Order: sequence, then C-alpha cells, then structure tokens
Amino acid sequence: MKTIDDYIFEDKKALIRVDFNVPLDGEFNVTDTSRIEAAKPTILKVLEDGGSAVLMSHLGRPKGQRNEDMSLKHISEKVSEIIGVQVKFVDDCVGEKVEQAYGNLQSGEILLLDNLRFYSEETSGDKDFAEKLSKFGDVYVNDAFGTAHRAHASTTIVAQFFPENKCFGYLLAKEIKAIEKVMQTGEKPVTAILGGAKVSSKITIIENILDKVDHLIIGGGMTYTFVKAQGGQVGDSICEDDKLDLALDILKKAAEKNVMVHLPVDVVAADAFDNGANTQTVSVNEIPEGWQGLDAGPKTLEKFKEVILQSKTILWNGPVGVFEMESFAKGTIAVGNYVDEATQKRAFSLVGGGDSVAAVKQFGFQDKVSYVSTGGGAMLESLEGKTLPGIAAILG
Ligand code: AMP
Repeated sequence: MKTIDDYIFEDKKALIRVDFNVPLDGEFNVTDTSRIEAAKPTILKVLEDGGSAVLMSHLGRPKGQRNEDMSLKHISEKVSEIIGVQVKFVDDCVGEKVEQAYGNLQSGEILLLDNLRFYSEETSGDKDFAEKLSKFGDVYVNDAFGTAHRAHASTTIVAQFFPENKCFGYLLAKEIKAIEKVMQTGEKPVTAILGGAKVSSKITIIENILDKVDHLIIGGGMTYTFVKAQGGQVGDSICEDDKLDLALDILKKAAEKNVMVHLPVDVVAADAFDNGANTQTVSVNEIPEGWQGLDAGPKTLEKFKEVILQSKTILWNGPVGVFEMESFAKGTIAVGNYVDEATQKRAFSLVGGGDSVAAVKQFGFQDKVSYVSTGGGAMLESLEGKTLPGIAAILG
C-alpha cells in the first residue's frame, strides 16, 4: 500500500483530494472543522518536504452548477488558520485561471480549488474532466475517505493519469488500517456491536461480519425483528415483519459459524415515541400492546458489558436505543463506557458508519475509542465487504 511516506515532495506539486465538505452556518462560518484538521498532517508533510499542495474537494450538493453559497471561498480563511499557511484560492477547479495559479505555485504554498461539484462531470466520473484535473499535480494523493465509495472524477478516475505517482494520504491510510484491524487482523475475541433502527439497512454488514467476529451484539430497533421472529411479543416496537425469516436465517448462520449472538433480554419500553412518555422496564419477549422498546434495559447492559470487557477487538456501529432522546440514551452511553473501559484494557475499538459517529461525538466518546471513522457511507460499504473504488484506484 503506497502512502504519502513513500514520496519526497521536494519541488513537486501534490494534487490532494481532501474531504472539506464541512458544515457552514447562515453566515458561512465553518461550524465543525474536524475534516479540515483531519487533512492537516498530509498537507504539512508535502509542505515540509519542500513541495506545494493543490487541494480539491466538494462542498454540499450544487448539482453541477456554480452556486456561490457552496463555494470553497467561504472556508479558505479557516483552512489557512488551521494549516498555518495563507492559502491561495482560485474560484474554479479547471480551466485557464487554475492553470495560471498552478503555474505560479511555489514550494511551501497551498492552492485551494473551488467546488468540484460545480461540474456535473465530477459525479459522473467523466474521463476528460479527470484528465483536466490531473494537470494540476505531479503526484496524486487521495486523502478523502468520506468519498472513497464514489467513482467520481476526483476520487477515482483521476488516478488513471498517475500510473506511477499516486498514493494514500495519512487519513485514508489510517482508515484502511483501522478497517483491516477489525476485519482481518484483529486480536480475538472480536466483537461487533450493531444497533440502529432497521435490520434491512444492516443485513449486508451482518452477513459479511459473521465470518470475522466471535461475538455479535445486536441492539436498538433491530432487536425486535429478531425477537418477534423467535416468537416474542414486541408490542408496538419497530419491527420489520417482512424480515422475520431473514432474522432467523442470520441466527442460524451465526450458530453454524460459532458466532455468539447477544440480544437484549430486557428493554425500557415507552407508551409513546416521546422523551416524556411513561416508561417501564420489561422482558424483551413480553412487551405489552401499546408499548414500544426504546432502550436497552439493565440486565441487557450487564450482559453486553461482560462481552465487551472480554473483547480485544471491537467494532461499534449504531446506537442501542433512541439516543437522540435523553430518556432513552442511557443504554448507548453505557455501551460507550464499556467500550472505553475495554479500550483502556488495550482492546482496539473502531466506531463508524452512518449515524454512529454522531452518537459518539454527542456523548464525548471520540477520544476514548481507538478510532472514529470519518466516513459514514464509505465505512458502511467497507463493513459490507465492498472494495471502495477510490481505494482500488490507488492500489491498481
Ligand atoms: P442507524 O442509522 O441505522 O444506525 O440508526 C440510527 C437510529 O436508530 C437512531 O436515530 C436511533 O434513534 C434509532 N433507534 C435506535 N433504537 C431504536 C428503537 N428501539 N426504536 C426506534 N428507533 C431506534
């Protein structure tokens, strides 16, 4: 796997695909700078070697048209501040203006191009557009994990024009290594904690990880499809009636592969999907009509704790309750604390995919686990066992 450490950038220009798709407020201030900070080590390495960096990214969904609200000009100052170098901004990503700015770029300087998605050729993966982009670098560096699952011009196609000179940036390399650690080289026992709303959105992940894990903890809304499939009463809990056979099939496959599946035994049930609803703790198999399970109960958490604390490798995807409501966040917070404790006991813990990162950040666990993935969709596809086009393009 070629990374940025395999190159010395002295007098070279690096074309770096970063993920600067950051949230902006009404006055175009960046409200979460983590994606810019995440790209900093890669950019600094190029500059410290004596090279220069051309940064390209998308921002929002301008759908192939120039839209000033989504111009990267709004973030140029923030990038300068975080990297510690005054960035040169050009209000296009291809064409004469960029060619001129590129020609004038000196060692130690950074050129920030405007939003790639002002051109529909970006998302359609247009080869001519990718070739135009490829003129703005001697070496192509992909450091955007968040878009690595897209075969876009700047994330995948452009790599064709750098047959010898393409590599991963530090962030993307870290993501790849973290996934490998869980899916291939993780120390046993390996445990996956899968929560979230629906079985249907996690089915491919479950099927893929059954070959990799020793323990599978299932929580959140998915629970009730498994419980009902086994004959339990789930009341008004979220349940996919068309997935009952699938749930049984998963349990059968898990047993065949010697994967221990841990489902909740008790739940906090509510008489409405509301933070202020009446609640009671009931057995997961005996949820009364008119009540719905919205969080893991105390016996369940004890059981989850025991499994998590004996694990050496942990993958966590999805909350075990409706964590957005304070009344039903306790289970997810408890699981976060167990993962924290296991990590302190030297387990490797990876959190990622979909909404998991939001839950982890909301409760301040991001510094307590080994790695929090920066890519929602890209992480989910990796866990499904898919080869991401942006990664394959560098490896190929
Ligand atoms: P996902 O994006 O699939 O990881 O799902 C995350 C969502 O699942 C969150 O918005 C949670 O509120 C929701 N969720 C977790 N547990 C339950 C539950 N018992 N009932 C309904 N929704 C749930």
